[in-house]
Amino acid sequence: MRTRKQTAISAVLSASRLCQHVQQEMVSSDTVQKNDRSPVTIADYGSQALICQVIKDAYADDVIVAEEDADSLRQNPALAERVTDYVNQSLDTNLQAHGSSHKVCEWIDQGKGEIKDRFWTLDPIDGTKGFLRNNQYAIALAWIENGEVQLGILACPNLPHQLDETASHRGCLFVAVRGQGTDIYDLSGEKLGVAQVSDNASRLAESFESAHGDSNTHARIAKKIGLHQESLKIDSQAKYGIVARGEASLYIRLPNPKYPDYRECIWDHAAGMIVVEEAGGKVTDANGLPLSFVSGRRMINNRGVVATNGTLHPEVLSVIATI
Ligand code: AMP
Ligand code: MG
Repeated sequence: MRTRKQTAISAVLSASRLCQHVQQEMVSSDTVQKNDRSPVTIADYGSQALICQVIKDAYADDVIVAEEDADSLRQNPALAERVTDYVNQSLDTNLQAHGSSHKVCEWIDQGKGEIKDRFWTLDPIDGTKGFLRNNQYAIALAWIENGEVQLGILACPNLPHQLDETASHRGCLFVAVRGQGTDIYDLSGEKLGVAQVSDNASRLAESFESAHGDSNTHARIAKKIGLHQESLKIDSQAKYGIVARGEASLYIRLPNPKYPDYRECIWDHAAGMIVVEEAGGKVTDANGLPLSFVSGRRMINNRGVVATNGTLHPEVLSVIATI
């Protein structure tokens, strides 16, 4: 039987291929708005269906807390059919039975689990806005035991192998296991190296979407700690991958002043956090508190997120406390 790690890697790699495939062929009707007005695409649904089904096939009793559900997809049969086509194309025909759109909706809803002592959390496409712009996005899956992230699988299909590299080498998979480091693979599963934070990087990473952070304050913090280079504005948890690879020395995400009560979702940070920690970095909220993955789907007791190379962490927190 495959381990949870092997199962999760294979699920996330299949979902990455599905997302790339959809991205090449997408039409405007493949995107709809959720109740909170954020976009969701057939790739978000397809990715969640595939990953939930691959996990449940191997570990039927595992709990999955995922971002999407199939409630509105059931009201849109044409969209459900599109999702089903892509999911079926991604399944290994020899091994897995193909699903009807009814089945695929059930697979998506396997992600409606409640937080338990041991559970998975999944963002089938983190940074859907980046995905729609053909920029960065991520597929993020983490295994949490007793509140501690033990395993993080983060696929960034559009991320260059190195930031200064040309577009010909894209697609990175970060695999972090508690106590064992963070390995980096390409999307065919070939190992590229081991992630290691750097004290020499001098850049700040932050959201591309200005509404998702407080870029004015981020810039003031960067200046105070002596980072003068322009920030890297990147969608999704790819930012954690960039800190883990030593290409940025910190990632700050303070609440946007328009949404001071915004609380972060667990699937937006669990995989990314362990990717940075196992590369030698540190991750807390803006008050220096550990991120809590058991307080609910949203981290109600945390405010913002700070991820650093470790060395910078105390200084960044003390600057935030005074700013
Ligand atoms: P990023 O690509 O880093 O900007 O993060 C994308 C994530 O931002 C999405 O998955 C949303 O869950 C989350 N998000 C949505 N609205 C906000 C907000 N007002 N502040 C912070 N994060 C948000
Ligand atoms: Mg997300």
